[in-house]
Amino acid sequence: MSMTKAKETTVSNFIRTIIDEDLAKGKHETIVTRFPPEPNGYLHIGHAKSICLNFGLALDYGGHCNLRFDDTNPLKEEEEYVASIKEDVSWLGYDWDGHLNYASDYFQDLYTYALRLIEDGKAYVCSLSQEEIREYRGTLKVPGRESPYRKRSVRENLELFEQMRCGAFPEGSYVLRARIDMAHPNLNMRDPVIYRILKAYHHRTGDTWCIYPTYDYAHGLSDALEGVTHSLCSLEFEDHRPLYDWFLDQLPVPSRPRQYEFARLNLGYTVLSKRKLIQLVQKGCVRGWDDPRMPTICGLRRRGFSAASIRNFCELIGVGKSYSLVDMSMLEHAAREDLNKTASRVMGVLDPLKVVLINYPEDQEEELEAVNNPEDLAMGVRRVPFSREIYIEQDDFREDPPRKYFRLAPGREVRLRYGYYITCVDVIKDEQTGEILEVHCTFDPETRGGDSPDGRKVKGTLHWVSARHCIRAEVRLYDRLFVRPDPTADEKEGSDFMEHLNPDSLRTIESCPVEPSIREMGPGTRCQLERKGYFCVDPDTTPGRLVLNRTVPLRDSWAKIEQKMKG
Ligand code: ATP
Ligand code: MG
Repeated sequence: MSMTKAKETTVSNFIRTIIDEDLAKGKHETIVTRFPPEPNGYLHIGHAKSICLNFGLALDYGGHCNLRFDDTNPLKEEEEYVASIKEDVSWLGYDWDGHLNYASDYFQDLYTYALRLIEDGKAYVCSLSQEEIREYRGTLKVPGRESPYRKRSVRENLELFEQMRCGAFPEGSYVLRARIDMAHPNLNMRDPVIYRILKAYHHRTGDTWCIYPTYDYAHGLSDALEGVTHSLCSLEFEDHRPLYDWFLDQLPVPSRPRQYEFARLNLGYTVLSKRKLIQLVQKGCVRGWDDPRMPTICGLRRRGFSAASIRNFCELIGVGKSYSLVDMSMLEHAAREDLNKTASRVMGVLDPLKVVLINYPEDQEEELEAVNNPEDLAMGVRRVPFSREIYIEQDDFREDPPRKYFRLAPGREVRLRYGYYITCVDVIKDEQTGEILEVHCTFDPETRGGDSPDGRKVKGTLHWVSARHCIRAEVRLYDRLFVRPDPTADEKEGSDFMEHLNPDSLRTIESCPVEPSIREMGPGTRCQLERKGYFCVDPDTTPGRLVLNRTVPLRDSWAKIEQKMKG
């Protein structure tokens, strides 16, 4: 796997400033970062922010980034998630370059450190129940109370902890706690639990352990064992930093990492939490983790977002310390910028209306030359078949055109893209319903390729597909997954985020005529259907059935907002 350069230009941020200072002072010679996913679900676009930050910094500063699975909770973790996370990180263009670790690699070290804490009188085995521990902890205003087991002797603690490890006790009967300060203003410092009994099979260590370390205990020590210099996490962990430091201060660790917090990504009209996303999957609200409506990396990939567009989005949103809700249109903007340069243009009609060219011979057909990408002429040209009957979009024809409507209407002439000028001469309707069945036009043979030798101008250019030659596609159009910008906003009032699902987030159109060149495009291929948006061939495609996902429509609302802001 080769390292892909993530960015061409870099915008600075407070973390870069810290790193620059550390390197200038000689505090570190190089940097080591890590991306520490818990393998309990698929990665989402929020994780992409963390991946781009951690791997991107390592790349830019010539250090390295560890991919470390934080697999300390065997109840929720699975090998399937490990595999998907590796796939997604690679797909995003990053390489852990052999630095693939698991917190479970350190279970023995973490256990040895725990013994050391006990020996030093800094940890004790507690027999309070989970609820009692919560009660004893106190609140922000009320100091906690000390556990009656806090004064157990070192010897008794060592014996009990050893028995916990051997499986002598049932789950929930004992925990190991750090002995810090039950009156500490920071609740995380009030004798936090560092080990609990879990008689669960672990996907890597099997039945070797029946006690498992907590995140707070394992995380900083794993960082230290790996020589991580800058441990970057989201702001929720700010209050955990004193604890992070406390463990490192008590124990003979081989290196001294520092934790820095940045604001997590929140994206409008969706949820970014594995716990919530898994509910959507399990309750069948979406077709799976890779449903193109999901904000997961695999969902975005299936929808047609390129890795470059996700990296560019992460660059665009930057890294800061304050809460923000990012608009989906920013992500779509990043996709358009990339796809405009890279996606082949093809023609397809989502809502077909038949046009008959009455002066075009019935048995004639021809091929017209079309440019694959006007933004990149190196992408070449293709031949598009043309014949007497074609499809155009329903909304490209109006019997009574309003003002400023420049498309086809009775008596009006328009251009067919790469084709001819056509003029509407008749409208054929269903006698009973009045529905327009087809539109009759004449074509001007002198205008082949789209220009008139007499310099005659037309205002509208329509995309089209030859009826005789087209292939049919199932087209899936996506909208926001939720109807509210923040579906979790009223969670505290007892409302469930699932109540705000958008019932119209998927619209499927069967049997759209598309130009036959699409047949060459395999699953995952991205293209632009001219005037309709960027699309991607879905993996549901089989030899007899073409399925297209719309990644984004062409209209870029964010670019407009940006322009306005620039004034
Ligand atoms: P989730 O709530 O989705 O499970 P998490 O933080 O529990 O998120 P982890 O697997 O523990 O998921 O996260 C791995 C890394 O990704 C962590 O360092 C975490 O801070 C970061 N991360 C998770 N969500 C976001 C987000 N929305 N924005 C930025 N970073 C994130
Ligand atoms: Mg987590």
